[in-house]
Amino acid sequence: MARVLSGREAGAALNEKNREKVERLKAEGISPCLAIVRVGCEPGDLAYERNAEKRCEKAGVLVQKKIFPREAETKELLSMMEELNQDPSVHGVLLLRPLPDELDEEQIRNALDPKKDVDAMTDLSMSGVFSGRKIGFPPCTAVAVMELLDYYGIDPAGKHAVVIGRSLVFGRPAAMLLLQKNATVSILHSRSRNIRDLTCQADLLLCAAGRAGMVTGEMIREGAVVIDVGINEDAEGNLCGDVVYEDALLKAEAVTPVPGGVGAVTTAVLVSHVIEAAARLCRM
Ligand code: NAP
Repeated sequence: MARVLSGREAGAALNEKNREKVERLKAEGISPCLAIVRVGCEPGDLAYERNAEKRCEKAGVLVQKKIFPREAETKELLSMMEELNQDPSVHGVLLLRPLPDELDEEQIRNALDPKKDVDAMTDLSMSGVFSGRKIGFPPCTAVAVMELLDYYGIDPAGKHAVVIGRSLVFGRPAAMLLLQKNATVSILHSRSRNIRDLTCQADLLLCAAGRAGMVTGEMIREGAVVIDVGINEDAEGNLCGDVVYEDALLKAEAVTPVPGGVGAVTTAVLVSHVIEAAARLCRM
């Protein structure tokens, strides 16, 4: 039976570290602050915003909310980004995406100063993920996976990591972070052939296709570590990942549940990025 890698436990440990770091910064007169920019009232955005606010509050990180109506124009968002870039009391900015189609999302996200880009929304931050230079921060979910592995003492070095999914939000940056930790990495996507043969070679299998139940027991190598990043709904409307959890429990050495896995670490990582951004900006 596989070990269950609890994101709630790993997230709680990171939350505690965050709280301690904020206390130390406050002793230096620095109060970390996250600005959340939201356009419209999409339920997914509202849920993420509530979660981020709660996590920030618990760690002692301030939150400013900048809310725009669904009909907002690109120029209004651009001037908000400029205002936030110039505001010394704001250290991190989270723009809830995707934005409505009428807005120029690429221009708006790239208007942010990468130093305040706590979730890799600018092209410059993303370049830092690929070059290994400290420009902004990597995407929170990719870092959350690395935190989970680290918390449970799983070292990617020398392991064959197979990542299902090549999005810029997760697959590609996660592959780069694994490479930095000396894993040998394969990235699979919807055009990959013989997916089962490839996943069966994985010591570390990261699943981020966004397809409920796609990864069955026969795709998992005996003794692999399986990280399920997918967030989907099953036929009954319950939250589930990409992996058939019961199969992974029987086949893998360790597996993350959904819910309570990677997602539970992601907002703790967001808060840690705001704290680090505040330290970098204020100690410069
Ligand atoms: P995405 O942009 O839709 O990308 C999905 C990727 O999976 C694509 O690269 C796609 O290949 C690949 N794919 C789809 N079906 C496949 C198949 N049958 N075989 C192999 N590859 C396949 O999604 P995303 O933004 O990366 O998110 C992926 C999942 O992670 C979603 O369920 C999302 O909700 C979840 N997520 C979770 C968190 C968290 O905090 N836990 C955060 C972000 C995302 P192509 O490139 O060829 O189309």
